[in-house]
Amino acid sequence: MNWTDKDKEYVWHPFTPQSGLREAINIVRGEGVYLFDENGKKYLDAISSWWVNLHGHSNPYIATKISEQLNKLEHSIFSGFTHPGAVELAERLIKHLPDNQKKIFYSDNGSTAVEVALKMVLQYWHNKDQSKTIFIAFENAYHGDTFGSMSVGARNVFNNAFENLLFEVKYISVPTNENFTEVKKQLSDFIKQGTVAGFIFEPLVQGAAGMVMYKEEHLEELISTCRENNVITIADEVMTGFGRTGKFFASDFLKNKPDIFCLSKGLTGGFMASGVTSCAGFIHDAYVSEDKTKTFFHGHSYTANALTCCAALASLDLLERKETQDQIEMITLSHSSFIKRLNSPRLKDVRMKGTIIAFELNTAEHTHYLNKAAPEITEFFLKKGIILRPLGNIFYIIPPYVITKTELEEIYSAIEEFLK
Ligand SMILES: *Cc1c(COP(=O)(O)O)cnc(C)c1O
Repeated sequence: MNWTDKDKEYVWHPFTPQSGLREAINIVRGEGVYLFDENGKKYLDAISSWWVNLHGHSNPYIATKISEQLNKLEHSIFSGFTHPGAVELAERLIKHLPDNQKKIFYSDNGSTAVEVALKMVLQYWHNKDQSKTIFIAFENAYHGDTFGSMSVGARNVFNNAFENLLFEVKYISVPTNENFTEVKKQLSDFIKQGTVAGFIFEPLVQGAAGMVMYKEEHLEELISTCRENNVITIADEVMTGFGRTGKFFASDFLKNKPDIFCLSKGLTGGFMASGVTSCAGFIHDAYVSEDKTKTFFHGHSYTANALTCCAALASLDLLERKETQDQIEMITLSHSSFIKRLNSPRLKDVRMKGTIIAFELNTAEHTHYLNKAAPEITEFFLKKGIILRPLGNIFYIIPPYVITKTELEEIYSAIEEFLK
């Protein structure tokens, strides 16, 4: 049997219907924005392999750093012990995060970064002897696939089967100029009920919802309302972090800073699974007590793994370089001028924020994720050697920052041809 046949035999892939399977493409090598299959065919990875890759595949700088780390220390227990990589990464992340962020808690991925945030908030109130257990979230929200992160996500086809087991969450609409007065009222009304522990949101861009974007002024006001009413705010920057929106974090567009941040995806430049939850000093203070029952009893076997910390530090080195910042600006400017030349009746909406650009198709169907447009989009671009995995009738570009103008142009031209 060849790899694809064996894959069919033994492997169960994520988010993949198990009937009528298209053969998985066997990727054997990566370089820059390209992935190469076993026959040498190359694919331009326009979506950074599910939004994780920042500096290109098999980036030599990060690869070398990790290989050096491998011979020093691969992993060590992180309770009662520490290591230089974890400390340096915490310090550097704190420097990049807003001033109110004081502590870094490590975990394994985006969902766990969110779980940690939710548990941190719930136990914060518990430690203060207050019974606040309700979270507020946006409609369309996606925060991960574990039970807590599913619970604060929108109820949809992703979690139908688990609906009865998810905890109670109050949803407010994603703000627009038209509905904003109503959204503020929804938020205040929920807060008035007195049991709201926190408000979680994907700042400015809701990824899995289909790159749904909303204004910073609106988020700013919602955060103020929370602050005035002792509701803890959680920015899930798992997708938006590390330059995607044009700034280091999406929250850098805000004057009012969230209390907790969840980071993952771009954290290690796309090399390794890792998650971080950072928090403001006042949250950590509620855990500083002689009373041992106030301890945050949470941790993962691989918490602060030395290789993932090393990958994250190497990725930060690259991100802090002027060349990378210039690339982020170049991508943003290219997207803006591409939007101007687009004019197709097939498009219902085009939107962008920094390096993210999304195209929403006019389709007869209103269903979103399972929209029949999706397989057609995937196939069209794959034939052209471009990976553009759509979310229903919405497709988007979220490229590695090493992409060149020419490579961007190749994607744009393919999109224009698709829209004809
Ligand atoms: C991807 C994503 C998550 C979940 O991260 P995983 O690493 O896939 O568990 C959480 N929140 C947001 C905003 C995401 O985009």
